[in-house]
Amino acid sequence: MKNQQARDIFRNYLKNGKNRITPERFEVLESALEYEGHFGADDLYILMKNKKSRVSRATVYNTLELLSQCDLLSKRNFGDNLTRYEINYKKQTHDHLICVDCGRIVEFTETIMKKLPEEICDSLGFNFESYSFNIFGRCKEPRTCKAGSSKENKINK
Ligand SMILES: [Zn+2]
Ligand SMILES: [Zn+2]
Repeated sequence: MKNQQARDIFRNYLKNGKNRITPERFEVLESALEYEGHFGADDLYILMKNKKSRVSRATVYNTLELLSQCDLLSKRNFGDNLTRYEINYKKQTHDHLICVDCGRIVEFTETIMKKLPEEICDSLGFNFESYSFNIFGRCKEPRTCKAGSSKENKINK
């Protein structure tokens, strides 16, 4: 089965933390794995509702929290105080460039960002845990900006 490995990771995590293993939680996992890009808890909830899922809003919220605790999802904040998630599973580490006008998000991977946070930690007497790094800018091409062509953008509006 597709995503079996992710399901196993989640099942073990729930078991070890003495969290209940419910079909609803796995339904949230499946939907999150299918979601392309970055999403808020409500985006996922609405999507699931539209597919006639009976999962409650509270379950979506707390399951996303659990999924980020076991690293299947990453939590992001793009400067608008809205927590967004994205799948971490089988995905390369990357950072984000965000347009302050239209909210378009572009992902990039810079090799320097793989080493720099750990080096800074090391030199200041910390053990590295995680880092967050966003660049804010404006689309140069007005067409790209206004079009709101990215899927993400439509969903978050
Ligand atoms: Zn991303
Ligand atoms: Zn823009």
